[in-house]
Amino acid sequence: MKLQNKVAIVTGAGTGIGRATAILLAQHGVKIGIIDRVSAQSQETVQIIEQHGGQAMWQSADVSQADQMERAIAQVMQQWGRIDIVVANAGINGAWAPIEDLLPEEWDTTLHTNLKGTFLTVKYAVPHLKQQSEGSIIIVSSVNGTRGFSLSGATAYACSKAAQVAFTKMIALELAKYRIRVNVICPGAIETGINDHDSQRRHLEEIREPVEFPRGNIPLTGGHPGKSEDVAQLVLFLASSASSYITGTEIWIDGAESLIKG
Ligand code: NAD
Repeated sequence: MKLQNKVAIVTGAGTGIGRATAILLAQHGVKIGIIDRVSAQSQETVQIIEQHGGQAMWQSADVSQADQMERAIAQVMQQWGRIDIVVANAGINGAWAPIEDLLPEEWDTTLHTNLKGTFLTVKYAVPHLKQQSEGSIIIVSSVNGTRGFSLSGATAYACSKAAQVAFTKMIALELAKYRIRVNVICPGAIETGINDHDSQRRHLEEIREPVEFPRGNIPLTGGHPGKSEDVAQLVLFLASSASSYITGTEIWIDGAESLIKG
């Protein structure tokens, strides 16, 4: 897909991976519809894009709320008139705790944000994607729940991320006839503020297995985490025609972290 003048929805583009993705896509001529519930950061992302000559708008919505998402996506359509690319990125760590400690409502919050939020983002964008001759949906999952299962306590998070992979494959097949591609990316440790946002950790020392990685746990970089911009480059590839025959696929982006942590 040639990206100039295409329109992308990027959820959770107020910070982190979503912001880096929105900025990079905008640098390639994509108009960006940010959907995020945090105002100041989202408006800052819009400003950064506009300062570099790009075009962006922000719609406030909680991705887990159907009415808010339907309205936000309709607003992006009203503003830009089309949707070609969807990046379902908004997500939280939520509560990490032993299973006896984890509250049912904490489970719901994580699953509603990460999984239902992905469903709602895609559901309300698909009718608009179908209006174009091609489209690309990129879902942001994680190594946790897809290759890594040693982050004991992050059960709700890992389950939400695993389910995003199944969702991707179901929808990739359903939408292939419309030339809408659907892929899922699975980052490892990426330097963002995610551990400070909507993250609660309790009593993890009781359940964590004692594992040591003497030379750092990210082999490719000697232990340094990745950057949001690294992930944004992968999203750009999956959004563009460089990946035109790729759909229904998960791609890990983790410097081989998950190969040793498992
Ligand atoms: P971040 O906390 O920096 O950014 C998340 C963004 O999503 C924020 O702008 C936040 O306001 C928004 N958001 C959260 N809940 C929302 C809701 N209910 N409605 C609307 N917006 C909401 O986090 P990040 O590290 O950039 O994470 C982005 C995605 O990448 C998440 O899905 C996360 O699970 C995934 N991921 C991150 C890492 C990592 O190490 N940072 C690793 C693997 C996967």
